[in-house]
Amino acid sequence: MDLLIQHVRHGQEFRDILIQNGRFSRIEPHIDPATLLRSPQTLDGTGQAILPSFANVHCHAAMVLFRGLGDDTPLHDWLNNIIWPMERRLTADHIYWGTLFGCLEMIRSGITAALDMYWQTPQCLRAFYESGIRTCFCHPNIIPPGPEALDGLRRDLETHLELAQSYPARVELAVGIHALYTTSAEMRAICREFAEAHDLIVHTHISETKRETRECVQATGKTPAELFDAEGLLNGRFIGAHGIWLTPADRQLMVQRGAAIAHCPSSNIKLASGIFNERAVRRAGLRFGLGTDGASSNNRYDMFSEMRTAAFLAKARAFDPTAGAAADLYRTATRDGFQMLRLDAGEVAIGKLADCILVDLNHSGLVPGHNLVSDLVYAATPECVDTTICAGQVLMRHRQIPGEDEIRRAFRDVAARL
Ligand SMILES: [Zn+2]
Repeated sequence: MDLLIQHVRHGQEFRDILIQNGRFSRIEPHIDPATLLRSPQTLDGTGQAILPSFANVHCHAAMVLFRGLGDDTPLHDWLNNIIWPMERRLTADHIYWGTLFGCLEMIRSGITAALDMYWQTPQCLRAFYESGIRTCFCHPNIIPPGPEALDGLRRDLETHLELAQSYPARVELAVGIHALYTTSAEMRAICREFAEAHDLIVHTHISETKRETRECVQATGKTPAELFDAEGLLNGRFIGAHGIWLTPADRQLMVQRGAAIAHCPSSNIKLASGIFNERAVRRAGLRFGLGTDGASSNNRYDMFSEMRTAAFLAKARAFDPTAGAAADLYRTATRDGFQMLRLDAGEVAIGKLADCILVDLNHSGLVPGHNLVSDLVYAATPECVDTTICAGQVLMRHRQIPGEDEIRRAFRDVAARL
């Protein structure tokens, strides 16, 4: 159904905005619904501003199941003693409800696309699709137990792609390489071939910790970025999460290859992995977006937190308050993130995909309203998002998401049985 948003603030003006076939089709001072061929669903945007929604370019949505477990524990203890033993016990129900609940939280903070990496692809794809947001999803491939497992990897990639393609919209498959230290060169070669053959995004964790980066150089004589490049993986389809420990030469190499980074500021400082060099990355012209990472290392799926934290970290790292400017990080979280996911969204403009939010201009963080973008980055919280729209579908209105009570109940229930 077409959607007409009336009397909404768009930039400095008040406009009526028509959405048809999932895209913005008209933005005008006044559109009379009676003159339209098909009668649209109408939303009153009085007191609200329309803005692009956010793209979350690194996430493990289902990990919301583990929120609050083992916080403040050293990384390796936490993985070995808490997360990995529990992940081995996860059922299809855990993953489905966990992912769906994670999506609810994203919708509440105005996220309409997520690059997600997790186990049990069928459950994850189903949950993302049912939530109404977009996903580019990958399985976190890790070292298989034997040579026959390489055939298993090929088979899995085929099966997952078929499954993703069986959804009518909003679901894309990416090829996941968990990290260099958890995969073999043979596996990565299979992933590269498959991604090339089907033009898929390759997603991995790169240069997240100092230790991982040092060990890679010791073992191979190459930094992680150099190794990915030597294996033919660094190109315009490559999105590496974190990139805290990239060297200046790594950044140049990634720029030359057209690769991109998912910057996850909250996760990086909670796990004490280091501080991303936002200024150097931006100045190098390396493409990057913002990611929440999983809820066990953040613990929120909230792009308002990520924008604010990214801005503060950039300033602190550069000893310069002009670093990490609000307008830059706002574009990073919106336009740049969607671009990385190869989605024609991130701006409210005619012809673009109709992924957007309506924010309540009476939300305390947006008052008195001298500079909306500054307020969004530094002062607002997800509660300012009144309405979330993906592909022209209203997913949340007046902060109500249809079916959310039932989802929360089912999620609590499965989380209690971890
Ligand atoms: Zn991650």
